[in-house]
Amino acid sequence: MASFLASPVAAAVLPFPGRLAPSRLALSPPHLAGAELEALRAALDSGWLAPAGPTPAAFEAAIAHTTGLAASLATTSGTAALHLGYRVLGVQPGDEVWAPALTFVATVAPAVQMGAVPRFLDVTPAGWGMDPGLLAEELAAAARRGRLPRVVVPVDLYGQCCELDAIIAACDRWGVPVMCDSAAAMGAQQRGGRHAGHGAKLAVYSFNGNKIITAAGGGALASDDPALIARARHLAGQAKEAWPHYEHETTGYAYGISSVLAAIGLAQLPVLEARVQRRRAIFASYVEALADLPGLGFIAEPGWGRANRWLTVLRVDPAGFGADREHLRRALEAAGVESRPAWKPLHLQPAFRDAPRAGGGIAAALFETGLCLPSGSGMAAADQDRVIQVVRQYARA
Ligand SMILES: *Cc1c(COP(=O)(O)O)cnc(C)c1O
Repeated sequence: MASFLASPVAAAVLPFPGRLAPSRLALSPPHLAGAELEALRAALDSGWLAPAGPTPAAFEAAIAHTTGLAASLATTSGTAALHLGYRVLGVQPGDEVWAPALTFVATVAPAVQMGAVPRFLDVTPAGWGMDPGLLAEELAAAARRGRLPRVVVPVDLYGQCCELDAIIAACDRWGVPVMCDSAAAMGAQQRGGRHAGHGAKLAVYSFNGNKIITAAGGGALASDDPALIARARHLAGQAKEAWPHYEHETTGYAYGISSVLAAIGLAQLPVLEARVQRRRAIFASYVEALADLPGLGFIAEPGWGRANRWLTVLRVDPAGFGADREHLRRALEAAGVESRPAWKPLHLQPAFRDAPRAGGGIAAALFETGLCLPSGSGMAAADQDRVIQVVRQYARA
């Protein structure tokens, strides 16, 4: 690798050989654990590169151990895991799939591509997750209409666990399965110290490059029901039946994680707890340094669980602060600091203009005022100080 980076080819194709843009402070860049090269060498030495063999299996065992779920399938991405989840839950064209209004598009994108109709439910101001009370009301109304959703997909937003117990209780009443999108919540805990996603029929995790730990790209579908994971595994490997030739009763996908990516993920999982601690400390430093400024607030830690603080989200009330979050974002950008507005709610996205919804005002307000600040666990204290200085100067201006 080093010799390639030093080569004329690399010099010609890479804008910053071996590095990201040097001066810009990124929102959540990957943070190496140090053991990746060794793990990659072991994976290469095993003779397996394909999405099979000992390395993906070891990664899956480690994911199951970390999450406390009985079985897991490692995939090419969190989005692929969501897609497989929708398949094994039997989503059909015209089915409704319910998700919170405030989330990343990938939560529902695979279901929409399968012909399902998304319905967006508002979130709570406390934890920014799907509102369980609203969900219970909407389920009762849907039962009266005779059109219950095929699946409800709550989200652990920014690594803060949703109220999963209450959501599952509401869904159990009507026999509706829950798939928890815990893509950003590796290492986060719900009530009682249980890992994010635990208790749902299916849980989804992401190991994308910007998440709290990474496989350079990858995801997982996990469950306490090994039969569901076995079915997902079948679909992830092109739905090949057990014949000497390739026999297919349905069509599947090429969604299995490669041994190379699984090796990186395997080297990252042991530092997960340290990464959670670091991200929580970054959050605490932002709060300490900025909480005295008028018009600023933070996504609170509600009375349950432990957020992994994947991203620190600042709330900017323009009346109190004197400027809105977009002005602040531009000021940070001018200082070489990447920040990003909170998720734009899905019910406000042109792609879902016609989707049914329940409320959405809270999600919309959080989008208007929410700004994600650099939160990478590898961020130097001096770099975080730089972010804090810009915000403080801007507040005085
Ligand atoms: C990152 C993320 C995903 C998608 O995961 P990928 O691995 O990038 O496909 C889905 N949902 C949420 C909430 C996410 O944050």
